[in-house]
Amino acid sequence: MFDKVLIANRGEIALRIERACKELGISTVAVHSTADADAMHVKLADECVCIGPPAASESYLNIPQILAACEITNADAVHPGYGFLAENARFAEILEEHGIAFIGPTSEHIRLMGDKIKAKEKAASLGIPVVPGSEGPVTDDDAAALAEEIGFPVLVKASAGGGGRGMQVARTAEELPVAFATARAEAKAAFGDDTLYMEKYLSHPRHIEIQVIGDGRGQAVHLGERECSLQRRHQKIWEEAPSPALNGDERDAIGATVAQAVAEMGYRGVGTVEFLYEGGEFYFIEMNTRLQVEHPVTEMITGIDLVIEQIRIASGAPLSFCQKDVRYEGHAIECRINAENPSTFMPSPGRITQFHPPGGLGVRMDSGAYAGYTIPAYYDSLIGKLIVHGRTRNDCLMRLRRALGEFVIEGIETTIPLFASLVAEPDIANGAYDIHWLERYLEKP
Ligand code: ADP
Repeated sequence: MFDKVLIANRGEIALRIERACKELGISTVAVHSTADADAMHVKLADECVCIGPPAASESYLNIPQILAACEITNADAVHPGYGFLAENARFAEILEEHGIAFIGPTSEHIRLMGDKIKAKEKAASLGIPVVPGSEGPVTDDDAAALAEEIGFPVLVKASAGGGGRGMQVARTAEELPVAFATARAEAKAAFGDDTLYMEKYLSHPRHIEIQVIGDGRGQAVHLGERECSLQRRHQKIWEEAPSPALNGDERDAIGATVAQAVAEMGYRGVGTVEFLYEGGEFYFIEMNTRLQVEHPVTEMITGIDLVIEQIRIASGAPLSFCQKDVRYEGHAIECRINAENPSTFMPSPGRITQFHPPGGLGVRMDSGAYAGYTIPAYYDSLIGKLIVHGRTRNDCLMRLRRALGEFVIEGIETTIPLFASLVAEPDIANGAYDIHWLERYLEKP
């Protein structure tokens, strides 16, 4: 097992990883920018190293500085969290070249899944159902013929895509040239790579993803699904497990398909295979080769600590459980608490004057916020995640309503009022929502 892990991240996820390390008896090194000197992840770590000025490009994305921090603290592994360098294949490679373990998959698997065209080809070859669409990149010349073949509406997507950028819908042949040009320009600007592909646009799917974990030696298990259809601009805001739309047989079938594929790849570590789900069918969209923001809902219903498993596997240990040991208990919901105006979604950085998070049975708060903490304006606006567990989905919703009512954050605006209104919506209570539901709801006067 590792002696010392450096956490190349900030905020709630850095704290989450520190907690796992402490339970395993591993020392922790926090890194931080000058803007984060007072952050909780810095205060709770055994050691800390300042790696640069506020801009992420000069601190949390600065590979030479992070390597130097590993060298001076003698860390033997790096946990990248999510975002920042978590899916940077070159970073994983550089660490390996320096004899430092990367707590994640091999650089080869990160690179493969980072290319969405190759990822889709690989998934299909492993027997995972994919969205019908182009095979390989699409050029300006074959776009029209291909779109006719797939059938309108179509979605033009960037091969290097992420965060919903470089994605355009064309509903008719007339709309296609503009959609194509816009996606190309967006992809070029965001990723420096304007390779595009095309998919059938599904009109009212749900977003359902499968959590997997592999030992890198051909063994893999799945931990069921997460339902992440409540999205605004392709960003998830509320996630739950299990999905209100799946039954046990569907779960076991798609889970087994995914676990088998991941085992065949020889995948090491945790990963998430994302699907759209419509009309009882699953359609692969991408695989994320890292821990996800929404991993706690899976932990709450399985009792399995995904970060501890991740660290154990990266240190060379086998999986500590097999498929038949995985049991699902009750229901869990996560709300992403952002420092944002709940109607306009404008960021609201600043000083938190009062902070009283909810507690009690079945309530988990993953957050680095505290009274007197000033949220810097340089990073994303996630300040914490409220995760609630109950014996049934209804118990979980009632507990969530109670927990939101108890939550006090003063000095900044947060998305808590949005969640309080969502809990009261009949469609939410009935689990009757798809990926477009939230945007329609937010448009209502
Ligand atoms: P990114 O990597 O940019 O997040 P994804 O491929 O994961 O892109 O898709 C993000 C979101 O876009 C999905 O959760 C879904 O809401 C929507 N989406 C993606 N592909 C399709 C499709 N073929 N039809 C309809 N919606 C889609």
